[in-house]
Formats: sequence, C-alpha cells, structure tokens
Amino acid sequence: MKFFCATIGLTLSISETVVSKLILEGRKHYPKEYGGILVGRYSDDSKACIVEDTILPQNHKSSRYAFERGKEGLAQKLSELYEQTPRLIYIGEWHTHPDSAPFPSATDKQAMLQIANDNGVTIASPVLLILGLNSTSYTLGAYLQFQNQLIRYEQQD
Ligand SMILES: [Zn+2]
Repeated sequence: MKFFCATIGLTLSISETVVSKLILEGRKHYPKEYGGILVGRYSDDSKACIVEDTILPQNHKSSRYAFERGKEGLAQKLSELYEQTPRLIYIGEWHTHPDSAPFPSATDKQAMLQIANDNGVTIASPVLLILGLNSTSYTLGAYLQFQNQLIRYEQQD
C-alpha cells in the first residue's frame, strides 16, 4: 500500500505482509484497541518512507476506545534493529480503532505531539497509522506528525 503526502512531498509504503500482520494482531485483541511500533527505513533522498515491520509492545493498556503502549524493552529492540543489515529505524506508531473510522482522536493527537517532542528513541516526524477494524473488513488512515500538526497521507493504491 502506498500513501502520498503532497504538503511535504513524501511517500509512505507498507507491504501487504505488514498490513496483514497488523490486521491479525488487531483482531486478536478486538474489540479492544491494540497497536505497536512501526519500523523501517527512509530512502537516501528522504522522500520515501518504507515500513518494513512492526514491534509489538511487551506491555500495554487498552480498552474499547484507548490504547497506550508501554516502553519496556523497546529501546533494546530498536538498537538491535539499528545494528542489523539492512538497518531498520523507528518510523512511528500504529493502533486499531475497533468498529470505527481511522481518524485520529484528540488523545491520538496529543500522544503524537508528545512522541515527536520526546528525546528518546523516536524521530522528529513520526508516522501514525490507524487501522479501522471489524471482523470482516478494515480501513487504513496514515498521518505524519510534522511541525506540531498531524497531516493526513492520501492513499494511492
Ligand atoms: Zn486512536
């Protein structure tokens, strides 16, 4: 799946394999929200972002309308991915919206702002991928935290 953000001129690619994995994990926790971290890489010109995999959190809190991932073990896992070849880095966050549209909630916006300003393992412009999910179908919404705003990616295919 490919997304394009005209405002910044950035593409975001996610393979079917990764999308299937997110759907599978999301359905395991349905009807509660669930999620994790996206890892991948940027092209040399920084214009294309490729999501390669997800890291599932070791600990999390979730309900029908909220998801909060824990940080336990995350820095360690990310440093291992950074050392491997090809190198994978933190790209952003994903979580499900059970029986709901993949639009960011006020809480989601607040969380992304915090993540973008975190000096830890994350990056300045993290991606937020929301997976609207029910038992038979799904919809994906992709966003980029950029200059204190959450900008929507348009889906291309
Ligand atoms: Zn949400």
